[in-house]
Amino acid sequence: MINSDERAEMQMNPGARIVLLGRQGAGKGTQCVRLSRHYVVPHISTGDMLRAAVREGTELGKMAKAVIDAGQLVSDEIMVGIVAERLQADDASTRGYILDGFPRTVAQAIALDEITQDQPVGMAIDLVVPRELVLSRLSARRVCRDCGANYQSTGVDPSPWICENCGGDVVQRDDDTPQAINNRLDLYETQTQPLIDYYGQSGRMFHVDGVGSPDDVFDRLTKVVEGQI
Ligand code: AMP
Repeated sequence: MINSDERAEMQMNPGARIVLLGRQGAGKGTQCVRLSRHYVVPHISTGDMLRAAVREGTELGKMAKAVIDAGQLVSDEIMVGIVAERLQADDASTRGYILDGFPRTVAQAIALDEITQDQPVGMAIDLVVPRELVLSRLSARRVCRDCGANYQSTGVDPSPWICENCGGDVVQRDDDTPQAINNRLDLYETQTQPLIDYYGQSGRMFHVDGVGSPDDVFDRLTKVVEGQI
């Protein structure tokens, strides 16, 4: 259901078709939620979709769990299928989307361009945060099992820890272990960084400094987006 604030935003903003890139722990999840509210487009996170499938115990979830926990990537074929289906829904096909965690390989980016030929991805934004900083953020990261809200552990955490947004349990992700974190960051360098060249070749690549308060980073992001739409 769209509320009156969102309706006003919809009249002001024409929507957006954005891919948000950036290392794990760069703050993509937080910024995607904000961008999605601001432009009134769905936040499509492939990580959230896979985690939901794991929770529901679907065939996809059973297959994906071990891959996710090891910090590896689910196959391009499966991921492209999931995203292609999601982008056909009315919300994404009419106003656009903020894609988070997809594409993660050049093969996925090429497939995405094929799927969206009629309404291509307008821009890819790299949220730039140095590896050392995301390492410490990821080790302290805790997430709501139900709504995905992010928290940071201080070492003296509430027990039980209940999400302020939805009352769900706040836990450490199974793939936020040191080994899996390092795997994911290595994979980011080898598989995802080449996307920067891919989107750069078509003039769709933008870089935004992701270090700073969530409000500051959000302001930088909307300035870049508004320069383009
Ligand atoms: P994320 O929440 O984006 O960090 O994703 C969590 C995990 O889900 C990743 O470490 C991968 O195992 C898997 N995953 C999410 N998106 C993709 C994708 N586009 N391609 C392959 N695997 C993915």
